Amino acid sequence: MMVDDAKIPWYSLHPRLLHLGKWTWWLIACAAVLYFFYTCSFKPLWQIGWRTHLYCREQFDPVESATGKKFRGGDWVTSRKILVYGAPGVKAREVRKAADGMRSIVDELHLNLSVQMVSTPPDAARSIAAATTNKGKIAARFDQNKFIARRLDERGMMFAEMVVVDAHFADPEWAFGLADFPSGVAVLQKSVTTPELGRHEGTHLLGYDRHDDFPYYVFGYPEGWYPAGRATLMMLRPMGSPQLSPRARDAVINFWRGLETKKRRYFK
Ligand SMILES: [Zn+2]
Repeated sequence: MMVDDAKIPWYSLHPRLLHLGKWTWWLIACAAVLYFFYTCSFKPLWQIGWRTHLYCREQFDPVESATGKKFRGGDWVTSRKILVYGAPGVKAREVRKAADGMRSIVDELHLNLSVQMVSTPPDAARSIAAATTNKGKIAARFDQNKFIARRLDERGMMFAEMVVVDAHFADPEWAFGLADFPSGVAVLQKSVTTPELGRHEGTHLLGYDRHDDFPYYVFGYPEGWYPAGRATLMMLRPMGSPQLSPRARDAVINFWRGLETKKRRYFK
């Protein structure tokens, strides 16, 4: 069929009007395929990707302490220990909410990790104070990165920790909690701490470093068609349900199965 270029409106993106060469079309096709695999996945691919740590390589990148000491990301897992405590002044019942959430996710996944609620370690109390600014008239701001860097000097990879602080985050300011598998640190804001927040940040601490709306679709799981409308535990906000989505559960379980290949047992 002949096409009269003059009759095609410029916005139609008609291939004839674009005058692209064969190799350009190939390039566009390859880019489209890559984009598809970046934004979507399939259940078996998803599981293998988490087991081989292909989906989360950067979780094992080195982390650096305040004095420049380097640790392999995630090395705390061999300790099998997660301590939960509050900043000085945070009541035990607030800390218990976080600990309950952390413990419930560890138990649900049958992980062989101990979750212990402890009183504030003295060095941690000093680091919390050092990472907290603007105490007084303005709402206190907590610098997560500064805290992590100092904690790596203080406790190395001896354990992971979940901390409840009485301050808003410095960056991002809107966060309720922040958790980081490589350094083994999760921090929750006291005023919004619930067992559900403990479960959410706890799942991040256990290696699931994303939310349930990306990849947009993992075919093979029953999920809502609208990614931002999914009501599962691992959504950025709001937390509509305390239930782990099947995709998140499979991701964390496979992530730890992948860790087990190094001849350690992490499941009960
Ligand atoms: Zn999150």
